[in-house]
Amino acid sequence: MDGNDDSTLGPGTRLTAAGRRAEWTGTPGHPGAVVNPPVWRASTHLYPDMAALRAHPANADGLFYYGRRGAPTQWALADALTALEPGAAGTVLYPSGVAAIAGVLLTVLRPGDVLLMTDNAYEPSRVMGRGLLHDLGIETRWFDPTDPASLTAALCPRARAVLIETPGSLTFEMTDVPRVVEVARAHGLVSVIDNTWASPLGFAALPHGVDITIMSLTKHVGGHSDVMMGSASAGADWYRKLRLRAQGLGIVVSPDDAALMLRGLRTMDLRLQRTMASALGLAQWLARRPEVAHVLCPMLPGAPGHDLWVRDFTGGCGLFSFVLKGGSSAARDALIDALALFGIGYSWGGFESLATPVDPAPIRTAGAWPPAHWDAADRFGVRLAVGLEDAADLIADLDRALAVWRNASGTAA
Ligand SMILES: *Cc1c(COP(=O)(O)O)cnc(C)c1O
Repeated sequence: MDGNDDSTLGPGTRLTAAGRRAEWTGTPGHPGAVVNPPVWRASTHLYPDMAALRAHPANADGLFYYGRRGAPTQWALADALTALEPGAAGTVLYPSGVAAIAGVLLTVLRPGDVLLMTDNAYEPSRVMGRGLLHDLGIETRWFDPTDPASLTAALCPRARAVLIETPGSLTFEMTDVPRVVEVARAHGLVSVIDNTWASPLGFAALPHGVDITIMSLTKHVGGHSDVMMGSASAGADWYRKLRLRAQGLGIVVSPDDAALMLRGLRTMDLRLQRTMASALGLAQWLARRPEVAHVLCPMLPGAPGHDLWVRDFTGGCGLFSFVLKGGSSAARDALIDALALFGIGYSWGGFESLATPVDPAPIRTAGAWPPAHWDAADRFGVRLAVGLEDAADLIADLDRALAVWRNASGTAA
């Protein structure tokens, strides 16, 4: 099953084979006896004798030692994620995406360092900058995700790392990753990306020069809204450091959760293709609606960031936002309440569609939101996480909800 490392194979083929090493899916007498690695519930691992205990290589991957270092179920998931990430030597698993971000930043940064973060980063990443990192004597500075000059302006001799998220949470601005990486390299900074939106199927972060790539597996990999986990993948040097730090922090994931993640992973390409096509259909439909001022979806031709998405990405997903033309917060809430096929909830990447309000203005610090060139009345946004329902049904649902919005905002049809 090592064919999964062949990057000439398509994503569906690689997803099918990834992590299914024969020694993890069978017994010594019958390697590869089952399709999936069994769930190994094991805190204690046993050695046959003292000689075996003494001969155990210090801190090697993929060997029984003690439960905190995992067992074949977790190893298979980490191995599969590494196989999907071109340029990665290994992957560390964390109990959530936020734990992965914290685990990476606690590996890369030291007291006195400065972290540069894109202004559209996931809010808990921002909170980490103001809270955990601040308490450890690490300063965070935010920069405009669309303006490389803003990154240069934030640089200082204490700058140690840059954290990018592209497209960014809620507002989906695209960052020019090769340019950021070039600046980062020139100043000796480590570059880290939260690549949850695109996954490695949509954006190959390491070949674009990024040092460490993070995913919330809760979203596309799990895919069914029933399990949480995070990952960080990197080349050999950073992988080793990440793993040792995670080990020192006592980070371990449950084998049951790892098995659920492996199950979700097999269909990830299929789900992403479907949700991306549906999202694009919804985005195109919304862009033609008189009630809609802006569609924030880099996959949509003509939308902000589409040029960078075409240049650097090979895929997308079902998550994007739109901004209503005028109206009020109450009218926007009425629109979301009127949606019958979209749940109201903070996640995405599941099989079911979700909608949430988008109000980033109070948290932005590097540049204005809404952008200065927009009509200031256009500021009430809605984020849609498009699931596996039929796009025509979702569009009909949005059509009904926009009628409710027109009534609530006193806008003529
Ligand atoms: C959800 C999310 C996370 C956090 O993942 P959890 O598994 O929920 O902790 C990190 N980054 C982005 C972009 C996310 O959307």
